[in-house]
Amino acid sequence: MQLTFFGVRGSIPSPGPEYVRYGGNTACAHIVLNDGTDIILDAGTGIKNLGHELLKKHTDIHLLLSHNHWDHIQGFPFFLPIYQQGRKIIITPGVTDADEPDAVLKQMSGSVFPVDYKTLQSDVKVNIVPQGTDSWTLNSAKVSRFAMNHPGGGSAYLIEADGASIAYITDNELYPPYEKATDFQEWVTFAQNVDLLIHDAQYVKQDMPRKLGWGHSVAEETIKLAMACNAKQLALYSHDHNRTDEEIDEIVAHCEEYADIVGATVDVFGAREGQTITF
Ligand SMILES: [Zn+2]
Repeated sequence: MQLTFFGVRGSIPSPGPEYVRYGGNTACAHIVLNDGTDIILDAGTGIKNLGHELLKKHTDIHLLLSHNHWDHIQGFPFFLPIYQQGRKIIITPGVTDADEPDAVLKQMSGSVFPVDYKTLQSDVKVNIVPQGTDSWTLNSAKVSRFAMNHPGGGSAYLIEADGASIAYITDNELYPPYEKATDFQEWVTFAQNVDLLIHDAQYVKQDMPRKLGWGHSVAEETIKLAMACNAKQLALYSHDHNRTDEEIDEIVAHCEEYADIVGATVDVFGAREGQTITF
């Protein structure tokens, strides 16, 4: 399988010349399985550019949402396949505290977007996986989910297919001040031996304690998780929207140095828009 990042920012898009190398779009990653299945992780503004590519295909589109914060659903109204006659789009919402599994669609009603989702020509379905079901089959992939530590809740995903595995854990606070949905040891089990761990790395130590409880992690803490679960690669993800390319470079360099010092073999990098990883 193959994964491409289309949006790597947290909170809000970051336009401007100081954000071009990592990219300014919010959360979206695209996985293509060897059998051709298209799986999309989150519908932040990055999904707009992905939509242009998927217009050329006629495959069903499987969209897995972590949660309904704006930076994870805001690109959906601009995702052109939703305007294609009969295009099948299956949305699996994350498990959130508020019971709003169709929030991604409901943003296309009322006052914030001019097109009503009820008029879409595509065949959009919301696939609600019952709570208590933590793993299911999606064509040739096994999908598993786990509860994120994040205000309002949400789901992390593990995709296993084609002899490889990817853990997508965005908007997760590894050490929150509130009651954890998932503790460190459970994350280690969830992401055991993954080929790629994509984890929220929005903060640096200097951001704390001011941003404690906001639902994101300090970058170097993700190295500990990558080591503990024996991940081969670690993508630092959900970059702070104010962090310039140079500042993200510094975080990546610090994490690489930290990994070296503690003897970690994991390959650490900062997720970049347009970056493709093939397994
Ligand atoms: Zn969030």
